[in-house]
Amino acid sequence: MSQLFVRTLRDDPADAEVPSHRLLVRAGYVRRAAPGIYTWLPLGLRVLRNVEAIIREEMDAIGAQELSFPALLPREPYEASNRWTTYGNGIFRLHDRKGGDYLLGPTHEEMFTLAVKDMYSSYKDLPVWLYQIQTKYRDEARPRAGVLRGREFIMKDSYSFDTTDEGLDASYAAHRAAYVRTFDRLGFDYAIVKATSGAMGGSRSEEFLAKADVGEDTYVRCTHCDYAANVEAVAVRAPAASGYDDAPAAHAEETPETPTIATLVDHLNEKFPREDRPWAAGDTLKNVLVVLKHPDGTREPLAIGLPGDRDVDQKRLEGQLEPIEVEAMDDVELRKHPALVKGYIGPEVLGEESASGIRYVVDPRVVDGTRWVTGANLPGSHVLDLVAGRDFTADGTIEAADVRDGDACPNCEEGTLESARGIEMGHIFQLGRWFAEALDLKVLDESGKLVTVTMGSYGIGVTRAVAAIAEGNHDEHGLCWPRAIAPAAVHVVAAGKDPAVFAAAERLATELAGAGLDVIYDDRAGKVSPGVKFKDAELIGVPTLVTVGRGLADGVIEVKDRHTGEREEVAVDDAAAHLV
Ligand code: ATP
Ligand code: MG
Ligand code: MG
Ligand code: MG
Repeated sequence: MSQLFVRTLRDDPADAEVPSHRLLVRAGYVRRAAPGIYTWLPLGLRVLRNVEAIIREEMDAIGAQELSFPALLPREPYEASNRWTTYGNGIFRLHDRKGGDYLLGPTHEEMFTLAVKDMYSSYKDLPVWLYQIQTKYRDEARPRAGVLRGREFIMKDSYSFDTTDEGLDASYAAHRAAYVRTFDRLGFDYAIVKATSGAMGGSRSEEFLAKADVGEDTYVRCTHCDYAANVEAVAVRAPAASGYDDAPAAHAEETPETPTIATLVDHLNEKFPREDRPWAAGDTLKNVLVVLKHPDGTREPLAIGLPGDRDVDQKRLEGQLEPIEVEAMDDVELRKHPALVKGYIGPEVLGEESASGIRYVVDPRVVDGTRWVTGANLPGSHVLDLVAGRDFTADGTIEAADVRDGDACPNCEEGTLESARGIEMGHIFQLGRWFAEALDLKVLDESGKLVTVTMGSYGIGVTRAVAAIAEGNHDEHGLCWPRAIAPAAVHVVAAGKDPAVFAAAERLATELAGAGLDVIYDDRAGKVSPGVKFKDAELIGVPTLVTVGRGLADGVIEVKDRHTGEREEVAVDDAAAHLV
């Protein structure tokens, strides 16, 4: 401790709102460099490396291969996917000396896709799973809670490449299992929740949420079955008097039918009558996002009906576009959803300076004769649920189709939903063929035909995990790290002035280190009192605290469990054997 590059703080930093942030700063793990941008000090870096190691082991164990892309990326691949535009203010952009455009990577689908395209050409090469643990940059509108939501942060991102939908399902399942093992080992109390209305069809996507009151995500779970969903994705029964009566297929007995453009136009005319002339297919829509799915039911949305400032693609509307579905997404998903990056929606409808205010998406589906509605209200606008005919006022929060504690579970219908808050630790997502199409990643199949590759993407917030673990493992005295990721296994305090105490403490620390344990040894002499040393030890939060002090005269030291607070006296001669 006399050498360690650390200064603990007695007082909470003024800008820290949540316990993990306060404690990580006070205990000398991180220091703020700029809003949402943090320096990792030696103690913090040790924890971060331990978290990384667990993630890396579990990724390697399923056969994913680690590589590393640059963080500084050229514009072109992101132009091809249109994310250069759709990311809007969400990314950091820069120029080189020749005026070329670059960005700092917020996520790397494009680069992985291009790498596979560069190296592979046959179905025999697939599946392949690739990952990196790397610094990402997002110009978050609201960086928050220290490293919990940073503008520079470390993410483990992996991507799977398959030729078939079944292959993608298997890749997804393998990653999901690896995530379960990873989050178990990291000591999280977590929930796996649906991140889109996946149960109702569409691409599968789940989030791993660490249960925490400070979390920014709200999810619901069923009291009866294992259904759990982010409220942004939850499907609920439309209220009886919701305007469904005049929509087609409103009655359970009737043949289910997906709403059509004509339905949408009818609703527009009813809900938003125009003064000059009636709404017609092809008109510009505001406030509604329409994702048009291919009639043959393939995974990939065929087109997006334009809910923004531009005209809906007339041809697509009049042509093969029926039936339509309207996809549920939050603002994050809006930027990321494969269908949305295709080029129909520009930053003007996604960015903060949005003029048109595309804010709201609904997802009417008919399942077993019952119509379900998923709604997601993007922050900050007045919105109307056109299809369900319900008005929503915007207060900047997701309204999530009125999901409330006590609602019937949409899955089993026996249990009720209860809501809780969580921190998004990981997100797994079946991307499908969109990126591969945009970047022309095709391989030859068994019959020599070129087929488009289907992809999955799987992320874990590594720096966020450190904060989330701290959030779940602390008390009023400081941090209490789980052993698997603690910066050290044992913290030895030499308490007192007696040189014999220091000699014995140092001998013990050396012995423990020799046995392979990471040890912090508080060898500070002079003005640093035992009280200060104990306070620092509790603040830093190593799982086992050893005090070499007064008891030494009787041949004993004290061993304290940081989690339980239990203390025991151990003979100094047995101490090393006892602790290893
Ligand atoms: P959020 O909803 O919290 O903004 P996200 O859905 O935008 O996260 P993804 O694109 O799914 O994030 O990225 C994968 C993982 O990266 C997330 O599950 C999260 O753990 C982590 N992550 C995302 N944004 C940040 C951030 N600003 N700071 C720290 N970690 C982040
Ligand atoms: Mg999210
Ligand atoms: Mg985000
Ligand atoms: Mg996510």
